[in-house]
Amino acid sequence: MKTIGILGGMSAASTQIYYATLCRLTQEQLGGLHSPDLLIRSLDFATIEALQTKGNWEAAGALLNREARALEAGGAELLLLATNTMHMLTDTMMEGLSIPLLHIVDATANRLRAQGCRKPALMATRFTMDASFYRQRLEQFGLQPVIPDAQARDVIHGIIYSELCQNLINPASRDSYLDICADLQRAGADALILGCTEIGLLLNDGNVDLPVFDTTQIHCEEALRLALA
Ligand code: GLU
Repeated sequence: MKTIGILGGMSAASTQIYYATLCRLTQEQLGGLHSPDLLIRSLDFATIEALQTKGNWEAAGALLNREARALEAGGAELLLLATNTMHMLTDTMMEGLSIPLLHIVDATANRLRAQGCRKPALMATRFTMDASFYRQRLEQFGLQPVIPDAQARDVIHGIIYSELCQNLINPASRDSYLDICADLQRAGADALILGCTEIGLLLNDGNVDLPVFDTTQIHCEEALRLALA
C-alpha cells in the first residue's frame, strides 16, 4: 500500500471526513486490522482564509508548495490536496515535486463521464464557481458545467465559510441548498457536483433529486484505488 499524503485543514471539517472515509474504505476492502497509510498535514484554515480574502494567491501558492514538499520528504508517494478551491494553485504547489497529485477535478470528471452525465451543476466556493480553472478543466473532459447565478453563488459561498467550515450544520441552510439544486435542475443540469469538500455535510444522494458527485468521497475512493494498485 502506497503512503498517501493529504494536504488538508482547508477546512479541518472536511479533512476529518477524508480521514474517516479512507479508514472506512480500507477496512471494507482489506478487512482485519488494515487501515490506510497516511501522512496528514492539517493547516490552520484561518491563515488560508485570510490569504484568500486578500487575494494573496502568490503567498498561498508558496505556502502550499512548501507543505507539499514536506509531505514528499516525509514519505508520501501520492498527494491529495483536500480542497477544491486551492486546486487553482496546483501548478505552483507541485513545483519541484516528483510524486503525483491526484487532481480532484480529474477524479470527479472521470466518474461523471463513466455514469453518462454531461451537464453537471457545480456547487462550490465563489472562488471555484467564478474562476475558470475548475470549469475549464471539466470542459476538457467534454462536460458542460452549469454554474449557479450570482445570488445563489453568494448563498452557497456564505454557508460554506460561516457554517460548514466551522462544522456547523443548519437545517435551514440545507433547505436553501436544496432550493438551489432544484433551480439548477430546471436550468438543465443532469448531475450535481459537490465541488467543495464540506458540502457533503448537508447534501447527498438521499436528499438531492439529481445524481450527486461528492468530490470528497470520489477523491478518497480514487486515492485508495491508486494506493492499492
Ligand atoms: N474545502 C473547500 C473547497 O473544497 C473550501 C475551503 C477552501 O477554500 O479551501 O473548496
